[in-house]
Amino acid sequence: MDNNKRYNNLNDFLKNKFGERVLKICIDGGFTCPNRDGTCGAGGCIFCGERGSGEHLSADQNIVAPRATQEANKFIAYFQNFSNTYADIEILKSKYDEALQTPQIVALAVATRPDCINEDVVKLLKSYSDKYYVYVELGLQTSNDETAKFINRGYTSDVFTKAVKILNRYEIDVVTHIMVGLPNETIDDVKNTVEFINKHNIQGLKIHSTYVIKNTKLCELYEQGKYTPLTLEEYIESATYVITHISQDVIIHRISGDAPRDLLVAPEWNLHKKWIINGITKKLIEDDLWQGRFFRT
Ligand code: SF4
Repeated sequence: MDNNKRYNNLNDFLKNKFGERVLKICIDGGFTCPNRDGTCGAGGCIFCGERGSGEHLSADQNIVAPRATQEANKFIAYFQNFSNTYADIEILKSKYDEALQTPQIVALAVATRPDCINEDVVKLLKSYSDKYYVYVELGLQTSNDETAKFINRGYTSDVFTKAVKILNRYEIDVVTHIMVGLPNETIDDVKNTVEFINKHNIQGLKIHSTYVIKNTKLCELYEQGKYTPLTLEEYIESATYVITHISQDVIIHRISGDAPRDLLVAPEWNLHKKWIINGITKKLIEDDLWQGRFFRT
């Protein structure tokens, strides 16, 4: 077996689809989140930082020019920060339209919460699919509704199921985001979450380790000794479980978190992407494992 092919990675998928390297451009569309503005909750998920993540390019900037010639010719307009379907349809349309102006953009990726997916939003996303590859990233983190309450996620897991069904109906690809090492969770919760997502028709998966960033509720718990992050070895073990138990048809978009260096409190290993990726690859090779090895429907 080709050791580089032990799981389906996003870069290869994009290369096959577009015939060349494709890069993501992270865009801050200026959205907020119903779990922050009081609509369904306040304060946000306990691990969520005040600025979200991403490179904070606004949708109306020329988002491609600085990198186009040096690194790639094709790009994904990736709305990453907070909930990128949480606004009136007209506002969403104008933000997406602005980001797609540049001819080198070949795909539209939108990260959001399942409770911000409805028929109107999906119809809008579908309207771009003739010209662009469109996919939606849905945060799930865990299928355990007790953990969901504890982390203040603000919706139950059946809301995720409903959102996936709408997206499936319109044939928009779904990338699910899960987190390993959430407070009070064990490997059994990871197993249950994998079993849960395997009941859904998803096309992509992001696996993150839980990390602590400054000025969050999780940071308070960490400082009070009430939360201990996973060790790198524990994360590698859990991520390997996930990879080997999901369908071979799923594209793995990410197997490491992307903690902002200036805000990260713990664990320090989270800054070393290579340790994480190489550690998982090494384990897959040593144990002769691959994506979907133990997948059961
Ligand atoms: S849903 Fe996302 S943006 Fe909203 S509070 Fe949770 S992590 Fe932050």
